[in-house]
Amino acid sequence: MGICERRHSRHPLLWVRPNVQGGLSLHLSRPWPASSLDDAGPSHVLSAPELPDGNRKRHRARDVLRGRVGGQVSGTASCGSSRLLCGIDVGGTRTKVGLIDPKDPSAVLAMEVFDTERNSEELFLGNIRKSVQRLTDKVGNPSAAGVSIGSYAFRDGSIDGFSSMIRFMTHGYPLATKLSDALCKPVRIDNDARLICLAEAVAGSGRGFSRVLTITLGTGIGIGICQDSKPLGSEPFFHLAGHLKVREGTEFPWLDETPCYCGISGCAESTCSGTALALHVRHELGKGTDVKRMFEMASQGDLKAKAVVDWYITYLLRALNQYVYAYCPDVIVLGGGVAHGLSPYLNRIRAGITSWVFEGQRTEVRLTSLEEEAGVIGAASLFCSDDWRANA
Ligand SMILES: [Zn+2]
Repeated sequence: MGICERRHSRHPLLWVRPNVQGGLSLHLSRPWPASSLDDAGPSHVLSAPELPDGNRKRHRARDVLRGRVGGQVSGTASCGSSRLLCGIDVGGTRTKVGLIDPKDPSAVLAMEVFDTERNSEELFLGNIRKSVQRLTDKVGNPSAAGVSIGSYAFRDGSIDGFSSMIRFMTHGYPLATKLSDALCKPVRIDNDARLICLAEAVAGSGRGFSRVLTITLGTGIGIGICQDSKPLGSEPFFHLAGHLKVREGTEFPWLDETPCYCGISGCAESTCSGTALALHVRHELGKGTDVKRMFEMASQGDLKAKAVVDWYITYLLRALNQYVYAYCPDVIVLGGGVAHGLSPYLNRIRAGITSWVFEGQRTEVRLTSLEEEAGVIGAASLFCSDDWRANA
């Protein structure tokens, strides 16, 4: 677990840190500048409307995203500031910032979504700081912030690099320290796949299970595992487990024209990710057909589309059965863009889990129930529990 914590203060703080030369560096941390309150808002502002009695009704952020709940950020916060936590989900394209009450982490009280600044570190940090300030003004002051990032996160709060997406985030970039300075709050960071799992464990389809494994079937395959609502391991050692081998690697040249960076021919990511499925769909059904349309055609009885679904589930089950042996999960939660199309086939997938680790052990399979807000909930939930890092 990548961790960097610092106490929150509205006043300038002087920090003394060891530097890479073996000496000490002095750093003055400043409170938020007043000018940050006057900047233009984000591309999307999401908030739950207030009830007439002044109590803030909490809606799931996905309801707001879908337009079922409207409203701008408004009103005086009724939440005590000490109860709130902030979640920051940094993606290569979009950044989401939201506030939760840890007593009910499934409800995001308010969330902003804006483009991720990928070139200027100053703008990147400033955009997040301003977003947190706007949410603070409207909902309440969070006591700490968790951050989700698509990179390996070291326990000292640095990352392995996000350079392909965010130019200045190279290996060793001290993301937790940078954001802690910008926000004047304790900050913890972790890998995005791990935090999706944490979100499912505390607030989603994994709630009530001890060992939760999440498999995100998106651009790639993200793996996260939690035990008793805590990420397994002090760092994201398993998040690249989507590259286990599920086929020879020479059967489908259209999937393997560009070898996977993992070096394993026929890995799950090069077969079952949304990217791989899209390639297979185009090869089998024509270039004008996408994955969503393929699932629609299959549900309408199209034989070619049904054959693609059969093909996909065959390889997905090869992966899932290996994950049962590797992690002994009580539940596997499938997420990502492909998972939506798998809903009609869930019982078939459950029946295809034939591996078990001990007599009586069975692994349930569910689909994600969190969608857009999973990263924010998982990131904020880094502050809901404190003991897994010490014991890892
Ligand atoms: Zn691979």
